[in-house]
Amino acid sequence: LYREIFFIAFFNYDIVQMSDFSPGSKEKRIVIVGGGISGLVTASLLAGSGVPVTLIEKKEYPLNRVCGEYVSNEAAPFLKAAGLYPEQFTPAIIRRLQLTSVSGDSAYLNLDLGGFGISRFSFDSFLATKANEAGAKIIQGCEVSKVSFDSSVFKLETSHGAIESDVVIGAFGKRSKLDSFLQREFIRKKSPYLGVKYHIRIEHPRDLIALHNFQGGYCGISNVEDDKTNLCYLTHRANLNPHENLESMQKRVLFKNPHLKRIFSEAEFVFKRPEVINEVSFETKRPVENHILMTGDAAGMITPLCGNGMAIAIQSAKFLSELCLRFCREKEYDRNRLERDYASFWQRTFSGRLWAGRQIQRLFGNSWSSGVAVGLARHSSLVSRLIVKRTHGPVF
Ligand SMILES: Cc1cc2nc3c(=O)[nH]c(=O)nc-3n(C[C@H](O)[C@H](O)[C@H](O)COP(=O)(O)OP(=O)(O)OC[C@H]3O[C@@H](n4cnc5c(N)ncnc54)[C@H](O)[C@@H]3O)c2cc1C
Repeated sequence: LYREIFFIAFFNYDIVQMSDFSPGSKEKRIVIVGGGISGLVTASLLAGSGVPVTLIEKKEYPLNRVCGEYVSNEAAPFLKAAGLYPEQFTPAIIRRLQLTSVSGDSAYLNLDLGGFGISRFSFDSFLATKANEAGAKIIQGCEVSKVSFDSSVFKLETSHGAIESDVVIGAFGKRSKLDSFLQREFIRKKSPYLGVKYHIRIEHPRDLIALHNFQGGYCGISNVEDDKTNLCYLTHRANLNPHENLESMQKRVLFKNPHLKRIFSEAEFVFKRPEVINEVSFETKRPVENHILMTGDAAGMITPLCGNGMAIAIQSAKFLSELCLRFCREKEYDRNRLERDYASFWQRTFSGRLWAGRQIQRLFGNSWSSGVAVGLARHSSLVSRLIVKRTHGPVF
């Protein structure tokens, strides 16, 4: 019942009209493009501090996304302190990792930090409600197609009309129309990765996240709220090419790992069709592009096997909000300092982790190296601790 009330309340958002923007006002106006984790957290924090902020999201909440839906506890203390921890959904509390090789050999590890499991359908909607309650204006079903910057003012073209802003935050995720418009370097390179997500019902220990290797990819299994289990895999597009469809690839490739064969065969599938995304790219990106401050995946994406893309999105949103607040409040804190401080924070805090994630991903999706990885994990918790240390940061 709670959930129903929550979504009814959510759908009753006022749709903000473009005329709600007041170009004559002295206060700096902030527009956030993209309402995933990073955009919504930024909107909540800025609006909660009294800054006029508008978030533009091309889709409508609640929505399903391709994601493993495991949130690293790096972010938990901050979410709790900010009132953004989704306690009322009773997320699954995850403390153990099972790692299996392509042939099905298995190792279990305790996760020092652990995490929690919640569907993006619930989490993003919850964060959108929080941002709205904090005073952020949320425009849904509106796509931003162009952003230009001239004489300290941004002009944004959207599917609902044009607007102006003093600061633009790019929270538009891993791949967007705006990346092409901005001619970002990574968009020119084709990316071979494909992500697929299902929600299933199956007996799966509530405190366990499993990472099952298969030839050319890996598949995560962990619980979310309401006794549902997330099944999400990343694979090379070349894996799909010889097969007619996903189902046939799953049977011929994923099923070679006996754990995956059992899960696919025994599970009840909650969605009729999986959520699928193409062209997932882990290339380096610039955190500031044409004065737009990028956050979350728009600034750089860690490989999903690290399980902390959302924690990185949240941490970058937190820091960016603090800097934007200074820009809005302190006269001497100008745009140059804002951009410089944010770019150097991003570099210092995340670029090493993203690099390590790319290197570790090479161990996955291959018979020999996944076997070695499982063997190492089984015999040396030091190795697995080192991997986690290289890809995760301290709690924040
Ligand atoms: C297969 C896979 C599994 C993953 N598993 C995990 C996991 O288990 N744990 C974890 O922590 N991370 C995981 N991640 C990573 C995680 O999903 C991302 O790091 C996280 O979603 C980043 O949040 P974000 O806010 O930057 O982007 P998103 O959540 O992608 O949000 C971007 C938003 O911007 C909107 N948008 C885009 N363009 C425009 C536009 N032009 N105008 C308006 N709106 C626009 C989009 O509709 C979207 O809502 C996974 C990723 C993949 C691919």
